[in-house]
Amino acid sequence: MSVLPILRWPDPRLSQRCDPVEHEDIDALVADLFDTMYAAQGRGLAAPQVGVMKRVFVMDVTWKEGTPSPLAMVNPTIMAAERVPVVADEGCLSIPGVMVPVERNVAVTVQWSEPKGDIHMADFDGFEARCIQHEFDHLNGTVTFDRIAPDLRAELEGAYMAQTRP
Ligand code: ZN
Repeated sequence: MSVLPILRWPDPRLSQRCDPVEHEDIDALVADLFDTMYAAQGRGLAAPQVGVMKRVFVMDVTWKEGTPSPLAMVNPTIMAAERVPVVADEGCLSIPGVMVPVERNVAVTVQWSEPKGDIHMADFDGFEARCIQHEFDHLNGTVTFDRIAPDLRAELEGAYMAQTRP
């Protein structure tokens, strides 16, 4: 298990759609994603953020409060959404230092595989629903900047680029 470097936007890999996991063994990838996410003090991390273009993400929305709830989703599908829009600031380990106000559905029903292949389906709301929609976006090459109005995007992108310029 190891902590991997996290790609920073605008790395082009963060704008690419990921491939489904077929039969490959992804145990090591999932372990590395968790290690990397915890080391970076994050609550979610998708495989493309470490340059692996596969439909896998990990999340743990409660570990910072002392109660870990690790969840790894392989080939997730959002089956249904409760289309009540909620706007809240989101951080992203690939866009450090910038909070972006993103509109998400208040609740989602998700089907996913575990790394070992067992299939699950469950409903999520609150911060979990937001985190899942954020990580799911990464698998389709979408980041928070892609979900906001052009004028706000220009402003936040400008601030981000100014801060990351060497
Ligand atoms: Zn992110």
